Amino acid sequence: MMVVEMTGESTGRDLDRICESMAQNKKSFRVVSGRSSSYVMVPDVSRTEDSAGILSLPGVRKVHVSSCCHPLASREIGGTPHPMEIAAGVWINGGEPLVMAGPCAVENRNQLMKSAEGVKKAGAHVLRGGAFKPRSHPYAFQGLGSEGIALLKEARKTTGLPVVTEVMSPEEAEWIAPHIDILQVGARNMQNFSLLKTLGGLGKPVLLKRGMAATVEEWLQAAEYILAGGNERVILCERGIRSFDRNTRNTLDLSVVPLLKSMTHLPVVVDPSHATGKRDLVTPMSLAALAAGADGLVVEVHCEPGEALCDGPQSLTPEEFSRLMELASRVTQALRKEEPAWTM
Ligand code: PEP
Ligand code: MN
Repeated sequence: MMVVEMTGESTGRDLDRICESMAQNKKSFRVVSGRSSSYVMVPDVSRTEDSAGILSLPGVRKVHVSSCCHPLASREIGGTPHPMEIAAGVWINGGEPLVMAGPCAVENRNQLMKSAEGVKKAGAHVLRGGAFKPRSHPYAFQGLGSEGIALLKEARKTTGLPVVTEVMSPEEAEWIAPHIDILQVGARNMQNFSLLKTLGGLGKPVLLKRGMAATVEEWLQAAEYILAGGNERVILCERGIRSFDRNTRNTLDLSVVPLLKSMTHLPVVVDPSHATGKRDLVTPMSLAALAAGADGLVVEVHCEPGEALCDGPQSLTPEEFSRLMELASRVTQALRKEEPAWTM
């Protein structure tokens, strides 16, 4: 396909001129207007010769002809990784790993506030907590819904931490977006295309988890749906893929971290909690993820894991999480001394 990249100074008239030229040549196209760049995506041009005239038009920075199935998510077009601000003053992809932590589900005020204060004290940067839960069992706790969103806002106010929560439908995403800092797409919804399209238009950062049987291309194409809506802030989250061995809940595909870093400019984080399903494996796999070049972690922490309504066996206590943070900072320091080539 052809991707026409506009300069930062290009005008609406410049864009119109390109669209007119595509219409005259009977080419279908789509305009993507992000916060920092605009593109015209033309799927049925595959020859460089056909793009020659476009480059001379005003406002055009570059014309790419690419066979990549996720062009905006690729390094080829999107460039090298760049820092991304995901809430006021909170950055990812810019040096220090970003840690999102908190309970699987918001259960009640006391549980959320205790867990939130615990993760804040240990040094987490973002508070997680599900209000709308995608449970496999229809009779399992489904989350507190709107009451959970209100409690997350309260926890943000007391801790100062931005919050991330899962949305499962376009309608949920639309009403929750103004209240929450980062919207999470769960593994089960990675290819919910209506949801992805809606998130493309909402302008809130999206934590996009890998589907349990998704290939890297399918995952990056899911990210492309969001980018194609003009929303540039997508964070990829590896959370384990389904395999044959039931000793762990899923199989953590850590090789995907350096692989993705070579393919995309988007930040990559790892969720060792859902990947392993076992508390004792969470800290070692968190450290391994950082060593592999992950830009951050998503860790389930509960003030009383034994009492959790959801995912207790994989949840750390605040004390265990605090220890994880200490060890993580040692790994980060060691990496800083000798930056591995694959993170550059
Ligand atoms: C979660 O983060 O609570 C969750 C349900 O994760 P996943 O979609 O990765 O299973
Ligand atoms: Mn969970």
